[in-house]
This record gives sequence, structure tokens and C-alpha cells, in this order.
Amino acid sequence: MTLDEQKKFISDNIKRIKSEIGNRDVTLLAATKTQSAELINYAIDCGITHIGENRVQELLDKYDDIVKDNVTIHFIGALQTNKVKYIVDKVSMIQSVDRISLAEEIDKRCKAIGKVMDVLVEVNIGEEESKSGVDTNNLENMLTEISKFRNISVKGLMFIPPIFKNINEQTFYLEKIKSLFIDIRSKNIDNICISTLSFGMSNDYIASMEYGSTMIRIGSGIFGNRYYPQKNN
Ligand SMILES: *Cc1c(COP(=O)(O)O)cnc(C)c1O
Repeated sequence: MTLDEQKKFISDNIKRIKSEIGNRDVTLLAATKTQSAELINYAIDCGITHIGENRVQELLDKYDDIVKDNVTIHFIGALQTNKVKYIVDKVSMIQSVDRISLAEEIDKRCKAIGKVMDVLVEVNIGEEESKSGVDTNNLENMLTEISKFRNISVKGLMFIPPIFKNINEQTFYLEKIKSLFIDIRSKNIDNICISTLSFGMSNDYIASMEYGSTMIRIGSGIFGNRYYPQKNN
């Protein structure tokens, strides 16, 4: 595709997804990993107001070239504690908080710059050993602990459901997510408002909206397939 064709593709996808969202109270976040600043800025011109990056280095590489007037940047990937300091001044939300030590570091670095960071707690809904995220049986405890940090404001939960093989498996996880947030909301943990539910990616955002998602994170559905740079040697 030429650059112009690519832009047309991006603009059409954003229009389509926005019409699929319709009048629901759902935020569209563009997952921008591997995309150039030029295409990200184009997506912002097409009305994208939230972008999410996965890797600290990639975010730092692109940061200066992203036109930031009308967009907020979220961090949505696995985050090493020692890299928190590079991003706290650049992102408005960290969606991937999955351990106390990480929250502690975010709190400390935000305190130093006089900021309160919005965060989501990432839940390992599939109980997969290989995946990050808090186990569901540990979630209430984790939320209670994180709520004590003064420079962190917990806004909700983030989920990356396991890869599903069929519609039954997909429905199983969506039901599980839904009952989990109903359950956790009913606990009324002090200082925590579970208002943002971040789940739904290119292959399941339509269904996710039916199950209560308030933020869908879409990468390939906007930009097309990702091409990872070839490593030489
Ligand atoms: C890449 C990514 C997405 C978007 O995935 P697509 O399938 O390309 O829509 C959403 N959330 C996270 C955390 C991601 O890393």
C-alpha cells in the first residue's frame, strides 16, 4: 500500500469503529505499537483521542514526534519497575499495574513530580501462568493495597483475555469478566472507583462492548497487520 492508501484505510477503519460504538459510552483507544509517529498523528487527525503504547523504549523514541495537543497517552504493556521513571511525566494512565512493587514505584515517581497517576489494575482473567496480571482471587486485596498510595488513583480494571478458539470460549471469558467487575464493585473498596473497564481488541471488541467494556483497545483493526522490524544478524 502507498502511504495515501494506508491513510485512507486508517481513516475508514476509525469511521467504521466509531459508528459501531454508536452512542455507547465507550472510549476508543488506538494501540499504536510498531506504528510510525506519522501514522499515529494521522489517526489523531481522524479523531483518535487516546493512544496506547506497550514498550517504554518505543514510546520514548516516538514521543517527541507525536502531536500531543488532542490526545492522551496510555501505557498498556508489561512495565518493568526500573523503567517507570521514564514514563510518568509522559502518560496519563498506566493500564498494566499488576503488582504492589510497581504501584509503589509509580507512587514514588509521581510524588516527586507532583502528579497523581490514573491506573488500571490488570487482571489475569484466564489464570494463565505465562501472562501478567493479578489473579482474580487476589484482586480485592491488591486493590485495597494500591488504594493506599496517595499519588495513584485507581480508575478500573484492564483485561487481556486468553486467545479463544471459538465463540463459546470467548463468551466464557466475557461472562467471567462481567461477573468479576460486578463482584468487585459491590465491595465498595475505599478510595476506588471501578469506572473504566478496558477490554476488547480487534477480534472481540464488538462482543466486549455488549459485556460492559468502557474502553476498547484496537491496533490491527485500525492500522492493519503489524510488521515488526527485522532484526539484523
Ligand atoms: C496490541 C495490543 C492491543 C491491540 O491488539 P489488536 O489485536 O491489534 O487490536 C490491545 N491491548 C494491548 C495490551 C496490546 O498490546
